[in-house]
Amino acid sequence: MDLRYSAADDAFRKEVAAWLAREVAAYGAPPPPGDWAARRAYDTGWQRRLHDGGYAGLHWPVAYGGRGLPASQQLVFLEEYAAAGAPYVGINFVGNAHAGPTLIAEGTEEQRRHHLPRILRGESVWCQGFSEPEAGSDLASLRTRAVRQGDEYVVTGQKVWSTRAHVADYCELLVRTDPDAPRHRGITWLILDMDQPGVEVRPMKTIDGESHFCEVFLDGARVPVSNRVGEENDGWRVTNVTLRFERGTAFAQHIITLRSQLRRLVALARQRPAGAGADAGTAWDDPGLRRQVGRLDARVDALWRVTQRCVTEAEATGVPSPLGSAVKLGYSEVGQEIAQLGMRLLGRRALGAGGPDTEEARTVRDYLWSFQYTIAAGTSQIQRNLVAERILGMPKGR
Ligand SMILES: Cc1cc2nc3c(=O)[nH]c(=O)nc-3n(C[C@H](O)[C@H](O)[C@H](O)COP(=O)(O)OP(=O)(O)OC[C@H]3O[C@@H](n4cnc5c(N)ncnc54)[C@H](O)[C@@H]3O)c2cc1C
Repeated sequence: MDLRYSAADDAFRKEVAAWLAREVAAYGAPPPPGDWAARRAYDTGWQRRLHDGGYAGLHWPVAYGGRGLPASQQLVFLEEYAAAGAPYVGINFVGNAHAGPTLIAEGTEEQRRHHLPRILRGESVWCQGFSEPEAGSDLASLRTRAVRQGDEYVVTGQKVWSTRAHVADYCELLVRTDPDAPRHRGITWLILDMDQPGVEVRPMKTIDGESHFCEVFLDGARVPVSNRVGEENDGWRVTNVTLRFERGTAFAQHIITLRSQLRRLVALARQRPAGAGADAGTAWDDPGLRRQVGRLDARVDALWRVTQRCVTEAEATGVPSPLGSAVKLGYSEVGQEIAQLGMRLLGRRALGAGGPDTEEARTVRDYLWSFQYTIAAGTSQIQRNLVAERILGMPKGR
């Protein structure tokens, strides 16, 4: 692969930067973190602007509302997007990053035509219903049951940690359709309409006082057979496609955002006095701190290079390579170190970081959020297992 950008990519970069400079300033700041109705309106409104500006689904097929651009321009877009401080993808993450791509790879023509343009226009929000109380890392032990009745599946069970399920319209739902088959062979991947009797969503409170994710209770919820993605009992294969998008390309935007997060911390260090005296200088004068920032910056750069490779490989094969597990692992660790650096810079001031909009409060929020890096989308231990087995070809653990 060639990591250099072409003249066409550079021209695209200029066009994107000009569009973002205009639109980001005009769109304004996000609403307070806990106001989910306002967040849904803000995130979907921004998605609509991206769509109308021609910047949604850059690599999705034109037939489904995308632009069919090459991977290199998708990467250019993400670089400019982070540099412009454009809104976080937020509640559109699942739809854009892995539900949509799974439908492109595995869905029926009818499913693609119905769902993909709606995701790109910000008209439908997706969540993920994979994990269960007894099935996280060991996802194949899931027990939510779906029984076929005519043209429908009737679903009963419980999901947990479903991010932003309380504002979602659809759910990528894994169910057990054959309890007698070996664990991996009795699973089916369904599109669940969240707005129906038999679907109860209960938000859960997290360490930062917000409700990012939910429990989802299913009691006789109905899913038309036409909402099945892949064959009945072939859901484990489809799940692995979803997970490869989730671990492989979905993090691209997050990785490039780490660079902006690090830049913000450098700005903070430049302002923060090193000690009590008037001429004590700033925290940035500390060579140890500068060395740490340099190392982190180099690691973010390296991760971005590997991400470029994953994204270009996905373009060539239709599905990201298992290398995504290594990227996810590295991203999680660097992300946590950057967040810890922020706390080190704040010192005791972190305790009184009041007001949702201050830089201090944002740094504390980033730190509290960073704990999830090594858990979400498969824990670091699981990623290490995958790196060992699928990239290094080592024997399977017991
Ligand atoms: C922010 C966030 C968002 C999430 N969003 C969603 C979502 O939208 N939808 C969804 O379905 N799920 C979601 N999850 C759930 C996530 O996928 C699970 O938390 C994750 O897979 C781990 O499962 P678990 O929490 O049950 O932990 P467990 O599987 O119980 O793991 C506990 C510990 O044991 C270790 N462990 C387990 N098995 C092994 C093994 N074989 N080898 C080595 N170590 C092992 C794990 O690494 C971990 O340290 C989210 C999680 C987070 C943190």
